[in-house]
Amino acid sequence: MSIIDTRTVSHWIDGEERQSTSGRTAPVYNPATGVIQAHVALADQNEIDEAIESARRGFDVWSRYSVARRQTVLFAFRELLNARKGELADIITAEHGKVRSDAMGEILRGQEVVELATGFPHLIKGAYSENASNGVDVYSLKQPLGVVGVISPFNFPAMVPMWFFPVAIAAGNAVVLKPSEKDPSAALWLARLWKEAGLPDGVFTVLQGDKLAVDGLLNSPVVQSISFVGSTPIAQYIYETAAKNGKRVQALGGAKNHMLVLPDADLDLVADSAVNAGFGAAGERCMAISVVLAVEPVADDLIGKIADRIATLRIGAGAGVDGIEPDMGPLITDVHRDKVSSYVDIAESDGAKVIVDGRGYSVAGHEDGFFFGPTLLDRVPTTSRAYTEEIFGPVLSVVRVASYDEGLELINSGEFGNGTAIFTNDGGAARRFQNEVQVGMIGINVPIPVPVAYHSFGGWKKSLFGDAKAYGVHGFDFFTREKAVTSRWLDPATHGGINLGFPQNN
Ligand code: NAD
Repeated sequence: MSIIDTRTVSHWIDGEERQSTSGRTAPVYNPATGVIQAHVALADQNEIDEAIESARRGFDVWSRYSVARRQTVLFAFRELLNARKGELADIITAEHGKVRSDAMGEILRGQEVVELATGFPHLIKGAYSENASNGVDVYSLKQPLGVVGVISPFNFPAMVPMWFFPVAIAAGNAVVLKPSEKDPSAALWLARLWKEAGLPDGVFTVLQGDKLAVDGLLNSPVVQSISFVGSTPIAQYIYETAAKNGKRVQALGGAKNHMLVLPDADLDLVADSAVNAGFGAAGERCMAISVVLAVEPVADDLIGKIADRIATLRIGAGAGVDGIEPDMGPLITDVHRDKVSSYVDIAESDGAKVIVDGRGYSVAGHEDGFFFGPTLLDRVPTTSRAYTEEIFGPVLSVVRVASYDEGLELINSGEFGNGTAIFTNDGGAARRFQNEVQVGMIGINVPIPVPVAYHSFGGWKKSLFGDAKAYGVHGFDFFTREKAVTSRWLDPATHGGINLGFPQNN
């Protein structure tokens, strides 16, 4: 294993980069080469306390800013992001490995939330009921929570934090972001951008670290809420711990997304969609399609079309060579690649047929990169762990079913409920599906149904612990606390008089 750089990616505290003194670090790889390109600081308790204390001071300042001044900062951030997003895309590709156009895609989807957040005055204004009782007015205020924690996964180092922090900051909170230690630099770039946009120091803090930093946020009495995205076991732990500590919490977990293909569907559209949604970002997306449920008799035809398309995919370093970008980059680490590979072994030994085998895939000139080839499996038994568990790699499993009902039953009996899609030309069947399927985000002839910023993102069952989804109206509700004010101003002509009874409206 070679190391080309001993640079340490550090924290962002009090509006500046803060070198760590914890003495603890983790390696940051270039997944395309397998080289350690930097180390990331892992916070100790002192640094955790310092970050949270700085955020508390930031909140004191920011929560007093007028709506108009807050909005000016948000617009400035949006403009800077829009102008300079190419820099961020380069950072994402270098540390995550995804192809650069896909990195740009994730930034654009995050930018949508920033744009939504610029319109926050409309979304946090309260309601007013005049003369609710005789001479009494009732109104509601939506106030920020205070210091809020955001903990993000490796697979979207910019977009997932942007699902939360634009909304949280717009609503007047101070954010402490704990990025994934696998690709920590995007968060620092975003912090610098906030500073340029005029955000006061302490309102956006980056705390680099591992479980210690996460537990520090979960256990701090200053931190009012936790927004988490990651794997299901950790999401469940976050939900339970944060709730036990009296915090508001939304914890988004893993997924196993099915595409149900009815026999009347356009199989070329289905094959394109399955390949795009199965192998985009090397399958490291929580909305990736992992299972194609083919309602017979279409499976043989569909498998042929998918295999033909896989044969055309170009796999290589995400940055491309001589301006030519591949379709698919590497996986995040060698450990993860080996885990993905083990699921193909499991499927095969459980009786699945390997149609296209990505195990042992190597890219010329990048032999030490963490590549895994696109893989297509047929007749995967639904009892196999390769079917029931999240693989999070470029592995598409086909399961043949006899009917819509059999397909629906399989989707609904799974433990996850993040995304799903139905492909059909029958509107009645699609409508029935959207009503009957127990999943939070549904595509109808759309393979990756990530909702736009003014709707909210979130799954059902073990894909989301807590009630609040990310962004949209849910986001603003999550990051504000409501007060109801009942007010009476003395009318010179009336007096209340003594009455010890419970207040009644008249
Ligand atoms: P992960 O759960 O390993 O890590 C997520 C975060 O939790 C990281 O910041 C990590 O440092 C922290 N963490 C890891 N172990 C911890 C522990 N024991 N205690 C406390 N904190 C811990 O997830 P990942 O591998 O970075 O990301 C991939 C997972 O995220 C997949 O399961 C994917 O489906 C899921 N994901 C879900 C969504 C969604 O919207 N539902 C979106 C993106 C990713």
